[in-house]
Amino acid sequence: LTSEAVTTHFLDRIDALDTNYNAFLHVDRDGALATAREIDERRSRGETLHRLAGVPIALKDNLVVRGMPTTCASKMLEGWRPPYDATVVAKIKEAGLPILGKTNLDEFAMGSSTENSAFGPTKNPWDTTRIPGGSGGGSAAAVAAGLAPLALGSDTGGSIRQPGAVTGTVGVKPTYGAISRYGLIAMASSLDQIGPVTRTIADAAALQDLISGHDPADSTSLPGPAADLTASIAEGPDLTGVRIGVVKQLGGEGYQAGVLERFTETVEALKAAGATISEVDCPNFDYALAAYYLIMPAEVSSNLARFDGMRYGLRVEPAEGPVTAERVMAASRGAGFGDEVKRRIILGTHALSAGVYDAYYGAALKVRTLVQRDLVAAFGEVDVLISPTAPTTAFKFGEKSEDLMSMYLNDVATIPANLAGIPALSVPCGLASDDQMPVGLQVLAPAFEDARMYRVAAAIE
Ligand code: GLN
Repeated sequence: LTSEAVTTHFLDRIDALDTNYNAFLHVDRDGALATAREIDERRSRGETLHRLAGVPIALKDNLVVRGMPTTCASKMLEGWRPPYDATVVAKIKEAGLPILGKTNLDEFAMGSSTENSAFGPTKNPWDTTRIPGGSGGGSAAAVAAGLAPLALGSDTGGSIRQPGAVTGTVGVKPTYGAISRYGLIAMASSLDQIGPVTRTIADAAALQDLISGHDPADSTSLPGPAADLTASIAEGPDLTGVRIGVVKQLGGEGYQAGVLERFTETVEALKAAGATISEVDCPNFDYALAAYYLIMPAEVSSNLARFDGMRYGLRVEPAEGPVTAERVMAASRGAGFGDEVKRRIILGTHALSAGVYDAYYGAALKVRTLVQRDLVAAFGEVDVLISPTAPTTAFKFGEKSEDLMSMYLNDVATIPANLAGIPALSVPCGLASDDQMPVGLQVLAPAFEDARMYRVAAAIE
């Protein structure tokens, strides 16, 4: 089996099927095939290659690839071609993975359904009347539909895990700092983390192993070498004596009956496999969503200030009157950003303004510390925590887009991990009994214990 044959297979599937899903915003057939052929040639010369060499990959369109269109699903960046590679992209090129193209997302990664993409929503391959999750719905749909064997996403409040849950794929948010964010177009820098989207835990481990490691170009990158996750799951799943905590706050009111039923059944199976199960109280999780929806927009308002119509991306001159820098900026941002992005910039700017800073942003930072303390206490009692990844299965298009609160509530279970910087992943655990759509189970582990999280997830898979 050559890489050229494998890569051609996936490119042909994209050509044939992606009109149904809109998972890809850009496909690089020539580039992917050139890499595939080069790898085949090096292999035939007997060169030792990376274990993922020749395996094609799709990238969320907020990761920059030199010369390849990168839009963040925004009109603001339409037509822009980055002059450099993200660190994860450089590692992928170095290892010889053909890059199939760029996947759809909610504009600038803000959303839970991909309905906020300026280039149309992505559809869930399980049922095209339903959302594929968000913001990374494109990467999840591509993997779920067999258009790509591997993909990368970014997770600020669940954008890898919730799409994973609702498309029946594996989605991982590594420990904050484990993966360099250099070249990931920033949404909320203290929460953002790049991670794998795959079909199996072993694939995710191999991909995380490839992209991790210290990077001097990212000041929040962790020092020292990363743990070998592939080696740590190779021992095989064993739950004997593993203490698993079920988070009391993530699973009651607001959770779909069919999701809870599948979750409870999985918990029983974990018990039967030798794990000890206990309920763990994380009282401050009740405030995590509110804190996130202040901290995240505050950082968004600052990070998105760079899109000013001057340096790159869309430039719109005012229809009449003088062409001053401020007026070009206002016209460009007015035309380039969608409603949700504007809403968050305004919210964040307000939360950071003099007079309300302490009441909003300051209070949210305190809640963030309390969430972290809940987790420190919880991990004093148990090895990992689990919950449903999302309160519902994939909902229908339009169902939540008019009611922002219900959309934001879909992130209730994924947000604590971002606030605390801990690793968390979603692994499929069957179909919901009520609507037959995929359900994800979330595993959370203490910071730097990604290997432990993978080992437990491998036993659930
Ligand atoms: N749904 C979350 C939000 O809208 C997720 C964002 C993300 O993880 N990029 O903010």
